[in-house]
Amino acid sequence: VELCLAIDIGGTKLAAGLVTEAGALLEARRAPTPPTGDADELFAHLARLVDDVLGTAAAGGADASVGTGERTHGASVVTCGIGCGGPMDLGKGTVSPLNIPAWRDFALRARVEEATGLPVALDNDAKAFALAEGWTGVARGRRDFLAMVVSTGVGGGIVVDDHLLHGASGNAGHVGHVIVEPDGRLCECGARGCLEAEASGTAIAAVTGRAPAEATPAVVARTGQMVGRAVASVVSLCDIELVVVGGSVALGFGAPFFTAANVELRARARLSFTARARIVPSGLGAGGPLVGAGALGWRAGDRGLVEAP
Ligand SMILES: [Zn+2]
Repeated sequence: VELCLAIDIGGTKLAAGLVTEAGALLEARRAPTPPTGDADELFAHLARLVDDVLGTAAAGGADASVGTGERTHGASVVTCGIGCGGPMDLGKGTVSPLNIPAWRDFALRARVEEATGLPVALDNDAKAFALAEGWTGVARGRRDFLAMVVSTGVGGGIVVDDHLLHGASGNAGHVGHVIVEPDGRLCECGARGCLEAEASGTAIAAVTGRAPAEATPAVVARTGQMVGRAVASVVSLCDIELVVVGGSVALGFGAPFFTAANVELRARARLSFTARARIVPSGLGAGGPLVGAGALGWRAGDRGLVEAP
């Protein structure tokens, strides 16, 4: 049995796990992202988490010695995928996540390759999530879909004609920066009225003074409306009929959020080919990001799924 080491890196937590070639998540370990400004200290935390997970592979029959990549029998960890918050430089393998100040142009891909001896595929966490949805989630078997995460921030990945879109710098799919309110709030990116500035958990907390979990029905409905508005532009532009939404804010809000989003989508997307477009919740749950990272790793190893970047 061969396994993929999957790593998910966010501003609030680090996660590592093992993903089979069929997309099953076997092990998952999570830890809070340490609030350090030191790049190497943060990497040391990540390396310990990775060691723990590779240790479970060894205990289960795999021999996955960190540092040597030596494998002798049974299950082997043969590849690694990393989903990380953007922005990043995919050509160089460096990351500069907006919400992780300790890492600026940090050579994450090379460092993990060095620490594990594995080939490493790195990409945006929301693009990885799109791969997971297309692999084992709601979008399985679909050639055209948008997958979105509405949580602390808003991200997305677009699959068209069975291809995950990368774009000139690898940053395609940033649906969080579709303008939904021309005179709206100032976004971290410098523009005004981006979806992320109107509908992210960060935006909701800033506007209401409360955590998203304590949002009123009006806030839930407006958040859904903003997401539906952004989605209306995307489905018209890309001829997409299925939009899968995950993330703690969207899934926490639940049905009222999805109803409001679909009502707005219906009202705003009026072309014949957009009539069937719908917005549905992700069913992957907390394991989705790691399954997405696993998809990156397996795909880079030229083991099926969609095309390599
Ligand atoms: Zn923006």
